Amino acid sequence: MFGFWQRLGGVFLVAIIALLIAALAGALAGLAFFSIALLGLVIHHTKHLVALEQWLLVSNHTPSSIPAGSGIWDNIFAHLARYVRTQNQSQQLINLELKQLQSVTAAMPDGIVILDESDHIEWCDPVAEKHLGINLELDVDQQITNMVRQQSFVEYLAAGKFSKPLVLRQMRHHRLTLLMQLVPYGNKQKLLISRDITSYERIEAMRRDFIANVSHELRTPLTVIGGYLEMLSGDSKIDHEMQQHALTAMTEQTVRMQHLVEDLLTLSRLENTLNKLSESAVDMTSLLRELHHEAESLSGGKHTINLSVDSEDYILGSREELRSAFGNLVSNAVRYTPEGGKIDIHWEVSEGKGMFSVRDTGVGIEQEHIPRLTERFYRADNSRSRETGGTGLGLAIVKHILNRHQARLKIHSIIGKGSEFCIQFPEKRLIVRP
Ligand code: ADP
Repeated sequence: MFGFWQRLGGVFLVAIIALLIAALAGALAGLAFFSIALLGLVIHHTKHLVALEQWLLVSNHTPSSIPAGSGIWDNIFAHLARYVRTQNQSQQLINLELKQLQSVTAAMPDGIVILDESDHIEWCDPVAEKHLGINLELDVDQQITNMVRQQSFVEYLAAGKFSKPLVLRQMRHHRLTLLMQLVPYGNKQKLLISRDITSYERIEAMRRDFIANVSHELRTPLTVIGGYLEMLSGDSKIDHEMQQHALTAMTEQTVRMQHLVEDLLTLSRLENTLNKLSESAVDMTSLLRELHHEAESLSGGKHTINLSVDSEDYILGSREELRSAFGNLVSNAVRYTPEGGKIDIHWEVSEGKGMFSVRDTGVGIEQEHIPRLTERFYRADNSRSRETGGTGLGLAIVKHILNRHQARLKIHSIIGKGSEFCIQFPEKRLIVRP
């Protein structure tokens, strides 16, 4: 109120001066003076008001762009400048927080969609765009069921029971498996969270298959052993020959189970990423000579087995693992090559790469099986594998060992003619003979 009277002080002063002029020079002179003074005041305020209006029309309001003023306008513009400054500061703060929020949502692996009370899309993050095939610019305000058309999702949304998530399979060209969770919030709005669980599902399926396979592999020997044990314990009149037969069969099955367990343990050791490779310079010539002898004793003279070593280079790696990988290929060649066949074991360095190969004139493999041979328990020839004591894990072990040595396995085979398994080692794994 004091400000108001203070501001009117100037007008009073003009009025008093006008009265004095009227008293000294007549009423007309006083009135003229008062009118001119008032006109001056109106011009002064109008000029500032126009400046203010022009400033308001500018889109970018900065304190420095505020017009200069005099009298009361000086104060008004100073207040305005302060107000604009604080406004700009809070705007900058909001922008910064918004940016942070956007980078947090962009970094999140989950997709997020905000739905209004009628399940129309209000907003979604880039991950949800990818998961659900939404283009936010085009699809904002679309019903979510137009984008996610699976019947199970439509029913999930309609049922309104969102305590449990929903698994949606074969999303986006049959590739993705998504875990969808709806979370109601605010004024009947909903948050739809999508999580890509494709690789988790694949691992789960592998785990299930693996357990089923191991159980299946153990069931046959256990059934055989169980059957003979029942026979031996139930019938005391079993002749010696039959007893011997039972013991031999049980021993064979026990050995089979032992091999399976050993291979499983080897695989698990190799798959353990904490298990670091213990490297040394491996003398290939001596290692391959050992394997050659082993192959000959495994063959029992039924095959012609040749060893040719064309390079004296060593390999930087784990001797134990390389022995196991090469040994698996060599023993496979013996097991899958009928009597009278030929097996060539070869080591050379060519074009900077180390090449170990085992070639046989055995049964060969159909082309369709070749890409899957390194899968656990995958067999191209089921009966021959079992007859010769195979666990179905040998090439899976080879693959793991080669990965640990950055080496590659190439398989060529012609059914009925034979196979060649070739391992290529990169240059960095080769060491010139010390
Ligand atoms: P297995 O213990 O059954 O031999 P592997 O993993 O060593 O298991 O081999 C997988 C499958 O690849 C075998 O079951 C067999 O069908 C095929 N295989 C491997 N080596 C040879 C080979 N030299 N000749 C023909 N088939 C082979």
